Amino acid sequence: MSASLSGTIPRLDLRGRRPGLRELRAALPRAEVDVEAALLAVRPIVEDVRDRGAPALYDAARRFDGVAPPALRVPPEVLATAAQGLDPAVRAALEESVRRARVVHADQRRHDTTTTVADGAAVTERWVPVDRVGLYVPGGLAVYPSSVVMNVVPAQLAGVPSLAVASPPQRDHGGWPHPSILAACHLLGVEEVYAVGGAQAVAGFAYGFEDEGSVCEPAALVTGPGNIYVAAAKRMLKGLIGIDAEAGPTEIAILADAGADPEHVAADLVSQAEHDPLAAAVLVTDSAELAAAVQEALARRVAGTKHTERVATALAGRQSGIVLVDDLDVGLDVVNAYAAEHLEIHTADAAAVASRVRSAGAVFVGTWAPVSLGDYCAGSNHVLPTGGCAAHSSGLSVQSFLRGIHVVEYSEEALRAVGGHVVSLARAEDLPGHGEAVLARVPDVEPGG
Ligand code: NAD
Repeated sequence: MSASLSGTIPRLDLRGRRPGLRELRAALPRAEVDVEAALLAVRPIVEDVRDRGAPALYDAARRFDGVAPPALRVPPEVLATAAQGLDPAVRAALEESVRRARVVHADQRRHDTTTTVADGAAVTERWVPVDRVGLYVPGGLAVYPSSVVMNVVPAQLAGVPSLAVASPPQRDHGGWPHPSILAACHLLGVEEVYAVGGAQAVAGFAYGFEDEGSVCEPAALVTGPGNIYVAAAKRMLKGLIGIDAEAGPTEIAILADAGADPEHVAADLVSQAEHDPLAAAVLVTDSAELAAAVQEALARRVAGTKHTERVATALAGRQSGIVLVDDLDVGLDVVNAYAAEHLEIHTADAAAVASRVRSAGAVFVGTWAPVSLGDYCAGSNHVLPTGGCAAHSSGLSVQSFLRGIHVVEYSEEALRAVGGHVVSLARAEDLPGHGEAVLARVPDVEPGG
């Protein structure tokens, strides 16, 4: 086996130092994702979909997926047939995944709040779901029926009235999206499903299109994970549409001490590396012995796993590595600076260490909570921010599909009570018309009172 397939992983030795955030950001392993190059690639695709609609979507499918779907919208009987053909064990697993996700996401629902600011003065925050959402479910290197669950459940619980799913057409399945994805849509009651992948799917949702008498209306929001082309299209169309955080190639970081089980650590690093050659797997530890044992376990596991080449490429890439630190305090600095999509804590008193994590898409605490549990059946969402975006963004939730509208209600007396302040601030900003709008109603107010 070549060295590149041996499960080798780069090492970064930070022992004897406690670098600050700037230095850590520069030193830590991270994929060099060239979104600029991807933007150049997707711009003509997006513009073609905007200008030509459905014919552009068929052309892109032929070019990038190697197959043209029989129709862009998947007919109801194809959805039903996929559900009937679902392996009973997979059906049971999807149903449990949906059940757990629903329980967790139901608790995220927001309630309108009304605040009485003064007598006769109230501000209500009203939570309103977006009118229509386009949900992207990847289907390139792997197919993700679990991503149907993770997109659809929060959108449905948010009360989004109109939602559609898109996933790439598959050559081996007559040009329809993968049957497991169609079956998951059917189980969740999603009837509007399109055989469209990549950047063209995001553009199709943004602009809408018509095909064989069926209209895909434009969506207000597009969510869901995908590869660099999906991320680039979302970035390009942001503004015309809302997007969730960019959820690109997956990442796992593990903070572990000498007591961690190297087999668990290695298995979990492999589990995320198998998504994508660009996936990132990072171990941060204060134990050189654990690092060596994990390296040994990786060599064995990589050789024996199904997607050896993909996993080995991901582990050997500059986005992956073992980071050695003096102690868990520095380890926490490192994982907080890295802001991983998924962070596992394998230390003594893991819950206490986890409570000190400030930046991560999701945290998995202790031995019994591997990331793959969260990928499928924990109840948490698996559409999570990658590439360091967890420093400022959250994963998909019911909140992602809601807008908060401030509703302002003041009585005449309440306006009179505060009107003078409005006039003063309007004058200070040299916008006297603002003050005059108040004085037209309550002419007797004095600036400043
Ligand atoms: P995908 O569906 O995102 O991409 C496939 C599409 O890419 C194709 O339909 C095609 O249209 C387009 N494409 C391929 N080559 C192209 C090219 N040269 N130019 C323009 N377009 C091209 O599926 P994927 O590739 O398997 O990627 C899925 C990604 O989603 C993986 O990186 C995986 O790690 C990630 N993922 C992330 C999360 C998360 O929550 N962060 C969850 C699941 C999956």
